[in-house]
Amino acid sequence: MTTIRSEAVVVGSGAGGSVMAFRLAAAGMRVNVVERGPWLHPRQMSHDEPAMIARLYKDGGAQTNVDADMFVLQGDCVGGSTVLTNAVCFRMPESVRQSFAAHGFDLPPGELANAFDRVEGVIGVAPLPTDVHNPATWRLTDGLRRIGAPAGGFHKAMQDCIGCGYCNIGCRYGKKLDAAQTWIPMAIARGANVIPELEVVRIEHRKGHVVGLVAHERQTGQKVRIVADVYVLAGGAINTPELLLRSGLHRGRAGKRTSFNAGAIVFGEFPEPLDGWKGDQMCVHSLHDDFVIEQIQNPPVSLALTLPGFFGDHAARMRRFRHLAALGVLVPTQPTGEVYLGLGHRLVRPLFDHADIRFRMGPRDMAAFRSGCRTAAAAMLAAGARRVFVPSGTDPVIERPEDLTRIDAAMRTQTDLMGFGSSHPQGGACAGSDPRRDVVAPDFRVRGLRNLYVADASLFPHSVKVNPMLSIMAVADLAANRITGTRAQSEVTEGPAFRSRERLAGRT
Ligand SMILES: Cc1cc2nc3c(=O)[nH]c(=O)nc-3n(C[C@H](O)[C@H](O)[C@H](O)COP(=O)(O)OP(=O)(O)OC[C@H]3O[C@@H](n4cnc5c(N)ncnc54)[C@H](O)[C@@H]3O)c2cc1C
Ligand code: SF4
Repeated sequence: MTTIRSEAVVVGSGAGGSVMAFRLAAAGMRVNVVERGPWLHPRQMSHDEPAMIARLYKDGGAQTNVDADMFVLQGDCVGGSTVLTNAVCFRMPESVRQSFAAHGFDLPPGELANAFDRVEGVIGVAPLPTDVHNPATWRLTDGLRRIGAPAGGFHKAMQDCIGCGYCNIGCRYGKKLDAAQTWIPMAIARGANVIPELEVVRIEHRKGHVVGLVAHERQTGQKVRIVADVYVLAGGAINTPELLLRSGLHRGRAGKRTSFNAGAIVFGEFPEPLDGWKGDQMCVHSLHDDFVIEQIQNPPVSLALTLPGFFGDHAARMRRFRHLAALGVLVPTQPTGEVYLGLGHRLVRPLFDHADIRFRMGPRDMAAFRSGCRTAAAAMLAAGARRVFVPSGTDPVIERPEDLTRIDAAMRTQTDLMGFGSSHPQGGACAGSDPRRDVVAPDFRVRGLRNLYVADASLFPHSVKVNPMLSIMAVADLAANRITGTRAQSEVTEGPAFRSRERLAGRT
């Protein structure tokens, strides 16, 4: 078996792992970043949705909960899920920070604010320019305002975006400042080594110390041993708890308290063509106490997969593609999900070799979701939609404000929903102060293991409520402070000018 050695190893190259890799390398450590997915240059990306989803998404986009009534989307490539985002950036709300602190996961406000400043500088967070707004945006903004709902634009991590509308399958133009375009090349420039297509399958530990990781090369199946002084897990929610469980660590705690920003899409059909596909997919949002509404104007394949209706109805609606506008409704769910090594996992190996996910929205989450769908449908009608399609198997068509009450009967439980899912799984290796409850201590160390840390979405004791990428990056920056014993160096002020295209040129 080949053995790879370094001072630090980071498992996963997404939002958390990429920041950690950079910080450790900048602190002078020899770092290996192990990533199970492939490394694609923007040049290798295209607008072929099925092909790109198969290459960039975990399980080709087919990861679901065990009841198969919820999809869970995650990245499986260098840069992780950040490569698939809409580049939407929100800071963690202060109420969420305080609630995490109440769990014993205290992120000091000043240190966190500095981390956000630094991270935003590196990934170039700025308001999305209106010249790339898609033409459906102003109608939806108008509809939201007419019903008295807040409506705002997005801050995004992009530079010179041309508004092609295909963010969720990677940016072939290199305009999205995801982890593969920023932190990863910055880490490489400081000596870090990125190893794609190598999957860590077990953590070896002895007497409170990790002594190595066992991994296998995805192409050849060859086993590799990875040895370091410091180990950081950043495989994301679902995957980090899975790795702990596979290694016999924290059984009964790891995988518990998984949460999501979860939801589905409400569609409006307008009398005239809106051509919402001509521009950035997400340009307007509406924040509420217990749900968030975000425009999501998908390209044809993704739109077809989420558009309610069956057979002829579905086909007829798809033919009205130019007339459709879409608002996603997202609920920050309760942390009642669970990742576990179940029977399904063993039966479908090696095709889908991953842990099972159990999740069901409870009455509180469902009530929030119905409320969000009613608000989105009302906004569509106020914006001039002739018909509104809501994500329910019974497919009620809303044509007048009086019809909005039909939404409640059509969406009683999660099984009633269509196109329900999440791109924001969180939790499962939660940080906090209770050794009986929390897998990770407030100093980011996995309890009971002196040299094993976590720096990804699985730390969050409950959903962060807003789109999580920026919060994960900032929290990983704080985790790096604990590991290196330093605050971030002043050199971490490189902005989007620090682009990676040249550095990655020629990489496959
Ligand atoms: C389609 C989509 C759109 C999104 N849009 C937004 C958005 O606009 N704004 C926003 O804030 N958030 C968005 N998100 C969510 C955001 O991308 C994630 O919350 C964030 O990237 C999670 O960070 P992470 O470090 O926890 O995990 P990831 O970024 O998912 O990184 C984990 C990495 O670890 C690798 N890995 C896992 N297990 C192993 C293993 N055993 N061995 C080796 N490697 C492993 C994975 O392949 C992956 O590359 C979106 C997500 C998706 C899927
Ligand atoms: S919309 Fe902009 S950032 Fe997104 S894929 Fe297209 S060019 Fe890239």
